[in-house]
Amino acid sequence: TVGCVAVDNAGSLASATSTGGLVNKMVGRIGDSPIIGAGTYANNLCAVSATGKGEAIIRGTVARDVAALMEFKGLSLKDAAAYAVEHTPKDTGGLVAISATGEVAMPFNTLGMFRACATEDGYSEVGIWPSVKN
Ligand code: ASP
Repeated sequence: TVGCVAVDNAGSLASATSTGGLVNKMVGRIGDSPIIGAGTYANNLCAVSATGKGEAIIRGTVARDVAALMEFKGLSLKDAAAYAVEHTPKDTGGLVAISATGEVAMPFNTLGMFRACATEDGYSEVGIWPSVKN
């Protein structure tokens, strides 16, 4: 998966997700990436892009879950993202997310997930393994 989330200075949010799908996938399989609310979602609160085993991410409507937890439970982006990933089966995947205020979360429940973060004022982070997990 290549997933990207972004917010501008006005708080407008966008999410995009692209994938080749899983290795040895069934002909005609549609993964989570193109399904809004599963692998990809953005509203006025956050933008989310998920990766991993698409079937589990679709079942959990993982990307929409993050936004719903913020909207209806008042969770922060980090807490909502952590909850959504913790509540998908272990070794399923993870997500990158950003809120309208610029909070970033990149949790995963697999061994590792390539991810990076950059902001206008120079904050950046690149990570693969859980030692820099957030
Ligand atoms: N989430 C993708 C799928 O299930 C696979 C991936 O690229 O992580 O199709």
